[in-house]
Amino acid sequence: MEIEFAEAVNGCQKTFQFNKAVKCLTCNGTKARPGSQPQKCTTCQGKGTVQYKQGSYAFDMACNSCNGQGTFIKDVCTTCRGQGTVKQLVTETVSIPRGIDSGITLKIPEKGNASDIEGMRNGDLLIKVEVKKNPEFKRDGSDVYSSASISITDVRYIANLGSPGDGDLSKQHLRTKEEDKGDGGYPGWRPYLPSG
Ligand SMILES: [Zn+2]
Ligand SMILES: [Zn+2]
Repeated sequence: MEIEFAEAVNGCQKTFQFNKAVKCLTCNGTKARPGSQPQKCTTCQGKGTVQYKQGSYAFDMACNSCNGQGTFIKDVCTTCRGQGTVKQLVTETVSIPRGIDSGITLKIPEKGNASDIEGMRNGDLLIKVEVKKNPEFKRDGSDVYSSASISITDVRYIANLGSPGDGDLSKQHLRTKEEDKGDGGYPGWRPYLPSG
């Protein structure tokens, strides 16, 4: 998910849609046509494993016929075509925490795809956040640098110095190197202060 730079700085709520695998309501996730029962696998006799012999060695392997399930579905559910899940367009809202960095993956528990690994429970929804590049700002960890060009008006506003005298900006000048003795304040400039 791509978010704006300002959204990453301040945090935001994002609403989005995605195709999610949800439990098939026709078969209730069993993958079998309602009324039918899973059949015992005849290859492995329901054990899920078959024994292979190689010379004097014998070992068990997962049954290929039933994928180790021990059962197979003869009458598959026609709604989900034996998947146990169907795709559904869902809407989710996620809270993006302020200060998130690009490339971070958010995990939202139990909002992801339903899966038969855990009895059709919803897995976690993983959202990878990409922060759009902003040419005026550069991020370094938790610090944000701005390379935006600002006018003297903006500087005065940022410094919150108020307006000296009649507020005539032309009376403000950039401090020269000689004048800049590093006496604090904002290096490189100073407001013009009327004398007397
Ligand atoms: Zn189904
Ligand atoms: Zn089998």
